[in-house]
Amino acid sequence: MDAQAQRDRTRERTLRAATLDRLAQIVGAEHVLTAEDELTAYGKDALGEIFPPDAVVLPRTAQEVAAIVHVANELLVPLTVRGGGVGYTGGAVPVRGGIVLSTERMNSIKEIAFDDLYAVVEPGVRTYELQQAVEAQGLFYPPDPSSLRDSFIGGNIAENAGGPRSVKYGVTKHYVLGLEVVTPTGDIIRAGGKTTKNVVGFDLVGLMCGSEGLLGIITEATLRLLPLPEATQTVRALFRSMREACACVPQFVRARIVPTAIEVMDRHAIRAVEEAFSFGIPREAEALLLVSVDGDRAEVEREAQIVERILGAGGGFDVQRARNKADEDRLWEVRRALSPAIMRYGTLKLNNDVVVPRSRIPELIERVEEIARRQRVMVVNFGHAGDGNIHVNFMCDREDADAVRRARAAVRETFAAAIELGGTISAEHGIGYTKAPYLDMALSAETIETMMRLKKALDPNWILNPGKVFAAREEAQDGR
Ligand SMILES: Cc1cc2nc3c(=O)[nH]c(=O)nc-3n(C[C@H](O)[C@H](O)[C@H](O)COP(=O)(O)OP(=O)(O)OC[C@H]3O[C@@H](n4cnc5c(N)ncnc54)[C@H](O)[C@@H]3O)c2cc1C
Repeated sequence: MDAQAQRDRTRERTLRAATLDRLAQIVGAEHVLTAEDELTAYGKDALGEIFPPDAVVLPRTAQEVAAIVHVANELLVPLTVRGGGVGYTGGAVPVRGGIVLSTERMNSIKEIAFDDLYAVVEPGVRTYELQQAVEAQGLFYPPDPSSLRDSFIGGNIAENAGGPRSVKYGVTKHYVLGLEVVTPTGDIIRAGGKTTKNVVGFDLVGLMCGSEGLLGIITEATLRLLPLPEATQTVRALFRSMREACACVPQFVRARIVPTAIEVMDRHAIRAVEEAFSFGIPREAEALLLVSVDGDRAEVEREAQIVERILGAGGGFDVQRARNKADEDRLWEVRRALSPAIMRYGTLKLNNDVVVPRSRIPELIERVEEIARRQRVMVVNFGHAGDGNIHVNFMCDREDADAVRRARAAVRETFAAAIELGGTISAEHGIGYTKAPYLDMALSAETIETMMRLKKALDPNWILNPGKVFAAREEAQDGR
């Protein structure tokens, strides 16, 4: 090692020791993690690629978060916020090292206001826990990412998460009334409030929704609630092609109903869950559609009958309607079992949550299947047909370099197809680092430049979550 490298190493070690000391003063030494296994655990998300941080810090309050942000700025150490760590684009992974700030100790539900239909929560509350807590009082928090048992509200807001119920109820941003945020320079600010109507100043709540941990750290959220629907029903049908299944989607609008969820699975997805869990789905099924409705009992009965009729008239066979909660859970289990089940098709899953206007789904599926044939790579399609959001999963063997190269080429072509059909490259998983190389396919240079100016204005030292979203252009920034 030459003298300069030696000096750099010594400087690095001194800096690390100084950083750890400062962090321990803020949160207590027991809440600063540095053991190798801990750094590995906090260095990955649902993607599974590992980038260990130098330290993990577990604050309890917004004041502690602000103090940590001050230290990171002073020492110019990257700071990456982590929620439940079940993102699919590496958003919570510290690709440039530094500190991971986990919000897991900031996990209390502070208030559920029944008459005013809102809840105030800390960012580390799990999505499912909030849903259970409000439903116990007859209230309803609709955003339902399939990861809801593990994801945190902070992570949902930062990714603007959607879910099956988005068809009828929209996505996370439609339920965020107010936020407390620690800015990238360590100020504690409040945006929005407790009312649906609020037009005082810029919409900083809107800015934070989908900001992927780059523009601030959410330390409290006030969320809009609804009355809990009285009843739900689910209908499942099998089809002989994806085209037939997807062609049913616009029929619901014609019948003037808005289902809560419209989920679709292709033949490979069906085979995967069938082989893994033996649900008894007939082999001739080439597609599966799962449609739920909710509302008051009489309305739900009427709408479920309409759904059955539409699915039958559209070529659906083996149409089944859940008559009770257990039956409904059984129908949904097929969809929920999907993510782990498809891993039988390969050790590497390139999961792409593209979106198109929903009438274009059949064209998207045809284009994707043609791309997969040409690139000789297996593709599994499923997703939220009701809002045009299809999860296109290219499967291959991680060790097979040529197959991985072809799968990546297929991803790029799929993104191009989604854009050509009037959609875009991510509906709900965000950009993180995995989609950063494709950002300029979806946004113009001027749009990206505007976003980066905003980031730079709020985070002059580019401290929060470097290496994400703008990774390709980030190196040119000052102050890093
Ligand atoms: C099996 C499975 C199913 C999924 N299904 C869906 C789905 O149906 N719909 C969907 O939208 N997504 C889905 N996802 C993706 C993912 O779960 C969501 O993006 C979820 O919102 C991530 O939440 P998290 O708490 O794990 O966030 P993390 O992965 O921890 O973080 C995600 C991003 O948010 C930032 N962040 C976290 N907390 C804060 C905070 N307090 N302040 C500021 N920034 C913060 C992080 O820096 C990071 O950039 C799925 C993932 C898996 C593994």
